[in-house]
Amino acid sequence: MWLYETLYPDVKLGIRGKLIYKKKTPYQDLRIYDTRRFGKALILDGTIQTTERDEFIYHEMLTHPPLLAHPGPERVLVIGAGDGGVLREVLKHAIKKVYLVEIDNEVIRASKRYLPSLNNGAFGRDKRVKIIIDDGAKFIQETKERFDVVIVDSPDPLGAAKVLFSRKFYRNIFSVLSDKGMAVRQTGSTILQPEELRQNYRLMKQVFPYVSVQLAAIPTYIGGFFSFLIGSKKINPEKVSYEKISKRYRKLKLKTKYYNPDIHFASTKLPTYLRGGIGK
Ligand code: SAM
Repeated sequence: MWLYETLYPDVKLGIRGKLIYKKKTPYQDLRIYDTRRFGKALILDGTIQTTERDEFIYHEMLTHPPLLAHPGPERVLVIGAGDGGVLREVLKHAIKKVYLVEIDNEVIRASKRYLPSLNNGAFGRDKRVKIIIDDGAKFIQETKERFDVVIVDSPDPLGAAKVLFSRKFYRNIFSVLSDKGMAVRQTGSTILQPEELRQNYRLMKQVFPYVSVQLAAIPTYIGGFFSFLIGSKKINPEKVSYEKISKRYRKLKLKTKYYNPDIHFASTKLPTYLRGGIGK
């Protein structure tokens, strides 16, 4: 059997694998495949969300840059991320509280059962975790809580995730961030989804004084470099020194397989085609 990703009308990724679970949830079509090369894979509405084999690249690059660029993060909000990968990485930091707001409880249930290495116990034992099943856009509009870092780990702007890609959403994130707060999100493939990076860079620039771009290649997110945007209220993430980042990295004794202080800076170096493209 083959798993075919159907995110693009004219480009398909095929991976040999076996369908081991599927469910039509109130929000999306949820499938789990067991593949030879990438291990188990979570698919939502035909789009590869994460695989056991290469998830570490994405989850480390979404989590550690903002949490190490911030001088002392204590309260973190994660939106989406029902597979648990971001939560696992956030809990490696000396934070006090992390809220995870996921709209579809079925994603958490299926991920706990079929992809346990992603959450690595984050959904159970750690008292710092608070799981909320809700629409992240609604939560951020209503919450009275304040956060030092907000991590948006949403799918592409389809279905329930569309509301997580608007100026209003970024304005609401800005208002729940503490004064040195930062927010990060993935903004898709720089080759196959160039508009996603351009549009969200422009939207975030209208809300945040500082917006920085980072790149990483994640094999099952086809289309070359995948992009991440960090919006920051007070601190320019690109001006936080290598010494500071590496001191914080060492102090935490962070165990990572992709991220490190060199990658933290190397990932901000943009190829020429991207510089003009995002209005840099
Ligand atoms: N890493 C993946 C990617 O880059 O596409 C995303 C992983 S995670 C599985 C995405 C999660 O966002 C899904 O579990 C989905 O249910 C959740 N989600 C979608 N829209 C949401 C919303 N409005 N509020 C909260 N969670 C949402």
